[in-house]
Amino acid sequence: MKCKEQVDMKEPKVVQTARGGYMAKGKCPTHTETTVCAIMSKDNAEKAMDAGEAEKAF
Ligand SMILES: [Zn+2]
Repeated sequence: MKCKEQVDMKEPKVVQTARGGYMAKGKCPTHTETTVCAIMSKDNAEKAMDAGEAEKAF
């Protein structure tokens, strides 16, 4: 099952895609077994990492 509620992902990590884009990967807060991800802009990824909201994972 795919999770749509990606806004409040738990333990978010920022990863880089093969094409050089950024993605946040985390766990669905409702279905803790499920990994969810969201595309991020470079700006948003850097802001989230600077603010300590997401862990750098690349
Ligand atoms: Zn879910």
